[in-house]
Amino acid sequence: MSEKFIPLSEPQISGNEWKYVKECLDTGWVSSAGVFVDRFEKTAASYLEAKYAVAVVNGTAALHTALLVAGVKPEEEVLVSNLTFVAPVNAILYCRAYPVLMDADPKTWQMDTTKVEQFLEEECELREDGCFNKKTGRRISAIVPVHILGLGCAMDKIVALARRFLLKVVEDAAEGMGVRYQGRHVGTFGDIAAFSFNGNKVMTTGGGGMVVTANKQYADHARYLTTQAKDDPSEYIHNAIGYNYRLPNVLAAIGLAQLEKLESFLMKKRESAKFYQEALQDEQEITPMPMPKDCEPTFWLYTILVTGKDSGKRRKAIIQYLHKNGVEARSLWHPIHNMPPYVRFQAYQIEHSMPLYENAICLPSSVGLTTEDLQKVVAVLRQGLKSIRA
Ligand SMILES: *Cc1c(COP(=O)(O)O)cnc(C)c1O
Repeated sequence: MSEKFIPLSEPQISGNEWKYVKECLDTGWVSSAGVFVDRFEKTAASYLEAKYAVAVVNGTAALHTALLVAGVKPEEEVLVSNLTFVAPVNAILYCRAYPVLMDADPKTWQMDTTKVEQFLEEECELREDGCFNKKTGRRISAIVPVHILGLGCAMDKIVALARRFLLKVVEDAAEGMGVRYQGRHVGTFGDIAAFSFNGNKVMTTGGGGMVVTANKQYADHARYLTTQAKDDPSEYIHNAIGYNYRLPNVLAAIGLAQLEKLESFLMKKRESAKFYQEALQDEQEITPMPMPKDCEPTFWLYTILVTGKDSGKRRKAIIQYLHKNGVEARSLWHPIHNMPPYVRFQAYQIEHSMPLYENAICLPSSVGLTTEDLQKVVAVLRQGLKSIRA
């Protein structure tokens, strides 16, 4: 087998990145104004079939901005997925609001909408001025479904519940660029959404993010807050506390070039997922990644579950085995509810987040993977499963 190390998720720079960045450098337009910011936003909005897009410095800043724009206030509560990268929970805390953690559905790994419904119906009180948590007395102002791993949450159900209980929907689509649910891009169902262009996402600007919305006032407010809330730019008059969150032109230039290649990136991700699915279908000791109903996934990171006795312990040993044999694999994120900074927040009937985390292995999913690379990953994984038996 080849000696080449196979990384988890590497960006691919093979389009107009050099050309566009050179244009920025040659003209001196490198900072937070310039034609590429505008072109990147317009092209992203058009790709997503969304009305407005505001480019920002990273996905976490996009989430923070989206929550502020959606009107999340200090002392309010926000429902959020428990099985997620930590960023959306932190963004809620930056607003000085309280996260309420929602379990993952074992069938889709996404936010469990049945539990969300049960929580809202049984644990909350709907009044004319909003939805209130009976336990804490605090108003619940928003819900943040996190589309994880290049699959999509059940947005029809989430939007319907949000309407009924007067919640704003802030989608975390950081991992969801290109994922469609019922034919529509995730990130265009809620009131506002956040995307990320970090180095390991399906497309990258090095570091970057995007706020997406169909609401012009929201888009204008996002632009205002992310550029230091300048009410009079020449006199430096500010009527709100703003942030320096706008994406520099030189990074937008990379983003535009990546966006031009996005469809080919996604095709490759889907091909790799199909390869893994077919090559591993006879393996008794793993469960493949789910294919949620109504969803066109991108498989940002192709992820499997180890099954059987001592699956959590074996999962760790198998990841180590893969590393030792030149294949980078990793675990899912540790669920939020029982990590030190977050234990004090309410978590509703968490059952499936921990087992999913304990058993999951994310396999190499770079766009540049060759057939030999994929064959090697499968071969090493099979050896690992055989040598680390239950
Ligand atoms: C990557 C990621 C983010 C944060 O994006 P950054 O650009 O790294 O700040 C937010 N949410 C999820 C689910 C992510 O995977």
